[in-house]
Amino acid sequence: MSNIVEIFSSIQGEGLYVGTRQIFVRFAGCNLSCAYCDTPDSRNLCKFALVERTPGKQDFEKIPNPLPIDHLAQMINSLLTVKHHSISLTGGEPLGQADSIVKLAPKLHAPIYLETNGTMFDKLAQVLPHIHIISMDIKLPSAAGKAYWQEHDKFLRLASTKELFVKLVITKQTNSDEFKQAVDLIASANTSIPLILQPVTPCNGCETVTPATMLAYQEQALEILENVRVIPQTHKFMGQL
Ligand code: SF4
Repeated sequence: MSNIVEIFSSIQGEGLYVGTRQIFVRFAGCNLSCAYCDTPDSRNLCKFALVERTPGKQDFEKIPNPLPIDHLAQMINSLLTVKHHSISLTGGEPLGQADSIVKLAPKLHAPIYLETNGTMFDKLAQVLPHIHIISMDIKLPSAAGKAYWQEHDKFLRLASTKELFVKLVITKQTNSDEFKQAVDLIASANTSIPLILQPVTPCNGCETVTPATMLAYQEQALEILENVRVIPQTHKFMGQL
């Protein structure tokens, strides 16, 4: 059984696969509490899942949680009437429901793209054989309220056996010491892992950072890593889900 917030078809707004059409399966619950969280309603379990019936039409139906795996797989696959790049397992933190993912993934009819906060390395090991692409966040202490370097290190080493990129959200509170630590951590796994720098989207009281700040961080990271890109959350510009 899975506790799901919502299922819908839209474009990926972040990271290396920006612009691709995906089905989003938003799992409820999260082990972190980031200052800039843009999905605060996903941090807790939900009584109902909102499930889109026609891809991209936002014709949501309320279905009571928890959802049996076979029913969940059938609702996701029924959105594949339009061609999709992949199915994004997102949250919340999807790895909080790793047991469900292990059962669900083999029933899905498109590649699996995992969006994760990069801390639950033991759960990643469980689902890894089913995952095709990993979008891993590194949560800086200034945003997460504490350091997760050891968890991120273990996660990175496992995740780098698959197609992987790392995403770092830059806020006004980001400092260059923690940024350097994150870049060094990625480099210690592999300098060719792509790094996406995402300026925080101004919401929930967060102020964004200047373009000059983003360029300075990109320059700093490019001294060590081979592929560093600055990409904001594009779906927010378009008013997409
Ligand atoms: S990990 Fe993601 S869902 Fe969890 S609190 Fe942070 S931003 Fe929100």
